[in-house]
Amino acid sequence: MKVTDHIKNANGKTLFSFEIVTPVKGKNIQDLYNNIDPLMEFNPPFIDVTTSREEYVYVERDGLLDRKTIRKRPGTLGISVSLKHKYNIDPVPHVLCGGFTKEETEYLLVDCHYLEVDNLVALRGDAMKHQQYFEPTKGGHRYACELVHQISDLNKGKFLHEENITGFKTDFCIGVAGYPEKHMEAPSLQTDLKRLKAKVDAGADYVVTQMFFDNSKYFEFVKMAKEAGIDIPIIPGIKPLAVQRHLQLLPHVFSIDLPEDLIDAVEKCKDNKAIRQVGIEWAIQQSKELRDFGVPVLHYYSMGKSDNVKAIASALF
Ligand code: FAD
Repeated sequence: MKVTDHIKNANGKTLFSFEIVTPVKGKNIQDLYNNIDPLMEFNPPFIDVTTSREEYVYVERDGLLDRKTIRKRPGTLGISVSLKHKYNIDPVPHVLCGGFTKEETEYLLVDCHYLEVDNLVALRGDAMKHQQYFEPTKGGHRYACELVHQISDLNKGKFLHEENITGFKTDFCIGVAGYPEKHMEAPSLQTDLKRLKAKVDAGADYVVTQMFFDNSKYFEFVKMAKEAGIDIPIIPGIKPLAVQRHLQLLPHVFSIDLPEDLIDAVEKCKDNKAIRQVGIEWAIQQSKELRDFGVPVLHYYSMGKSDNVKAIASALF
């Protein structure tokens, strides 16, 4: 079922969902299940599955370095479909511009359709590790908006190069990313919202936000989005802070601010166990306020470990 239908069917009740990161190549899928199992009691109607783009590695051969392109975290579609079979939950694989040609994307979309995957999140992806800025893959898309167009076209039965092929039509529900504190490359929040509106006009059905720790940023974002004519569900993404390192890492990687009260609470902690607890309590407060605001879904970034998300969900669902 589509994410938007899950939201409609909930009749205003806030739903619980989360995102998982695909395991590093060679890891057993059972580790992933062990982290998902404890969250099943909260009835997530859908689970997001991230996609990681390719990386370059250098392998020494005959005294020379040979550059190889690898994917350290394969398996997005396989894991998505296994979630559907094992838990009867709708998977939401993430589809990227970076690392894929338009033809490879079309191939992936056709597979998703055959495998009865109803939802996708369409994303640009980040720059490769050695690049400062994102560079489109040769033959691929530059912006997520173009990817949304491609998916919307297929929803109308329109393939990349062929005329309409009678009888074939996908019906994907399309999610896109939104940034309450603006995307790091956007010159302003207003401009970023214009880009978000372009994704909606191209066919996006709902937005999932980047993590934020100050709810007022989300409330302001939703207000500004409405004023910009964006009238689709905006699902807040919540990450429980878990280790001391997050104080530097999260602002650096995601271009977000952390509230002073949260920083103070973390700095008073003696160890990471205490920090994990602070992160849980902060996320519970955030989630309660968001639920009271009437958000359609509380969507958690689990980052492969579920104990803290379980503690938060237990306080809310
Ligand atoms: P876009 O919407 O294309 O925007 C990227 C930048 O370009 C923005 O600054 C925007 O303002 C600007 N822009 C857009 N259109 C135009 C235009 N026409 N002209 C000029 N500028 C323009 N990354 C992964 O690699 N794998 C994942 O699974 C993944 N999941 C994510 C899930 C969520 C909920 C979020 C919020 C992010 C996720 N990301 C993931 C990270 C994401 O790929 C990065 O944040 C990426 O840098 C931007 O992706 P986007 O889809 O928002 O890009």
